[in-house]
Amino acid sequence: MCGTCCRGLGEGEVFLYKNDIKTLANHLNLKGKSGLREFTKKYLKIINDTFFWRNPKTKKGKTYRFKTLGFKFTGNDEHCHFLKDNKCTVHKARPFQCRAFPIGWNMLINSLRNFKDYSKRCPALQKSLENQGYFYSKNEIIKWARQEYEMEKNFFIKMKKNDFNIFRVYKFLPNDIANK
Ligand code: SF4
Repeated sequence: MCGTCCRGLGEGEVFLYKNDIKTLANHLNLKGKSGLREFTKKYLKIINDTFFWRNPKTKKGKTYRFKTLGFKFTGNDEHCHFLKDNKCTVHKARPFQCRAFPIGWNMLINSLRNFKDYSKRCPALQKSLENQGYFYSKNEIIKWARQEYEMEKNFFIKMKKNDFNIFRVYKFLPNDIANK
């Protein structure tokens, strides 16, 4: 509960997908398309994303770059709007990325180097390197990481089908949404 992972600190982002947005907007009593629009305008921004995709027919792969949605941060430390006194005020409805940190993050569990690098800023990761804290089995970790991968893949496929136009994928996005 240090709140470090709820701060951008000039380099981090919290990615949100459709279910995350619907759940949070609903939790804040922002209903329907107008509620989603209001939520998006107030709390989200467009950020950059990448995904490596191998075409099943040609077996050729490449990294695609496109847009996705993430939290807007606030204050000098770039904290999440929902962080108060280092506690999440929307804990029950927090996005998948927040629930899955750090065991469901492929970029961390696929690379010890990334894990060690992040641990310099994250006391929880530091403790896990010292064998302290809650133990997650390999199967549990893989389950979380697969879920993350599937979410990212499904979003990528949707974007690809829509010529990477995020306004066609998320029809409720206001035209003047913040763009990083
Ligand atoms: S939604 Fe909650 S857990 Fe996620 S970044 Fe914001 S304050 Fe932190």
